[in-house]
Amino acid sequence: MATRTQAKTTRTARKAPAASAAPVAAPTHPLPSYLDPNHLGPWGTYLAQVDRVAPYLGPLGKWVETLKRPKRSLIVDVALRRDDGTIAHFEGYRVQHNISRGPGKGGVRFHPDVTLSEVMALAAWMSIKNAAVNVPYGGAKGGIRVDPRTLSLGELERVTRRYTSEIGLIIGPSKDIPAPDVNTNEKVMAWMMDTYSVNVGATATGVVTGKPIDLGGSLGRREATGRGVFTVGAEAAQRIGLTIEGSRVAVQGFGNVGGVAGKLFAEAGAKVIAVQDHSGGVSNDRGLNVPKLLDHVAATGGVAGFRGGEPLTAEQFWSCKCDILIPAALEGQINAQNAGKIKARMVIEGANGPTTPEADDILQDKGVLVVPDVIANAGGVTVSYFEWVQDFSSFFWSEAEINQRLVRIMTEAFTAVWNTAQQHQVSLRTATFIVACRRILHARDMRGLYP
Ligand code: GLU
Repeated sequence: MATRTQAKTTRTARKAPAASAAPVAAPTHPLPSYLDPNHLGPWGTYLAQVDRVAPYLGPLGKWVETLKRPKRSLIVDVALRRDDGTIAHFEGYRVQHNISRGPGKGGVRFHPDVTLSEVMALAAWMSIKNAAVNVPYGGAKGGIRVDPRTLSLGELERVTRRYTSEIGLIIGPSKDIPAPDVNTNEKVMAWMMDTYSVNVGATATGVVTGKPIDLGGSLGRREATGRGVFTVGAEAAQRIGLTIEGSRVAVQGFGNVGGVAGKLFAEAGAKVIAVQDHSGGVSNDRGLNVPKLLDHVAATGGVAGFRGGEPLTAEQFWSCKCDILIPAALEGQINAQNAGKIKARMVIEGANGPTTPEADDILQDKGVLVVPDVIANAGGVTVSYFEWVQDFSSFFWSEAEINQRLVRIMTEAFTAVWNTAQQHQVSLRTATFIVACRRILHARDMRGLYP
């Protein structure tokens, strides 16, 4: 099994260079309240991450304020005729955080807790992620503040179509390309593609990615995020002398991301010893039977009640004895309350924003290597890019070709991030931000300010 080698990158991560740092321009006007850096929650987390990268931007630092304000934020009223004839209203959002390097790109989530500030953070993380893997996109995100479990299938379709029409002003194959995220899937993407196409009077397959294969979707897209988590996780493990075979893995969230990542780790010889999701938790010290657990989740909607293991509380989950912890659910799950209990040697962020800045510091002080979301879960958008390219050229690739290209991009991107972390003695998160923000702000600088 694993030998313990200290991950050098994690020790001095908060040390910033003093002399070479370019001065960061102070905001010229007071920030509107929703941009307040003291705002708690995902947008506050994101701003704290930007502050950590600012000293490494050199002359590009003069543009850093660009990263702290979304380029464009749209709030829409999504009116729904319910099955019983009454009308309900939900708030919908589409935020384009940055479009310096290409069109906006990022998913759409349906969740009762979605807020503008959350969508802003998720859009910003897409800007960083897309630049980190060097796909020619900016960053965007959307969402509707709705619990899709309270909607019938017909209501879900009508909400999706109305939302798509409302954000139709700013999306398009070369403007901003939505994709699946929490609680959205291929079916939702098919409705979005159809609605946009009907409105513009032409079939526009490239307006969304993550579509069904028969509507211009890409082979390998559904598994891409989990495959990327595994690829980057294996690269990181190798660098800290952790052998995947025989290692103990814990996963939070067992859907499209955590489920696929868990399966790939198990296939590589790891033992998935604990899984937790919205329904509960389950553990098995000898390793859960992952294919059976995936079948159980598909049949019942969650891991609770799985007979191949013991029930597990949230408290037990976070403190379980594991080598690799994969948060693959929602934001803020690893926080000041539970970070100290984590026993893993490595955290691979399948979810967006699962670790708060305080928790980042706690993990770093414990010597736990955190492979951040903005590189770890970039596999999904990488294959979204392949899908978009295939749609434009109407020429479709084999699954083997897609997976091969995915692994190459992820491995190269991770290597660049790792080397940057070594060079500047910073965390992998700050290193990813250094690589990505330099690309974004270099594009910004070359384009110049209009007028
Ligand atoms: N929602 C995914 C993410 O957070 C994928 C976005 C996309 O494919 O555009 O990365």
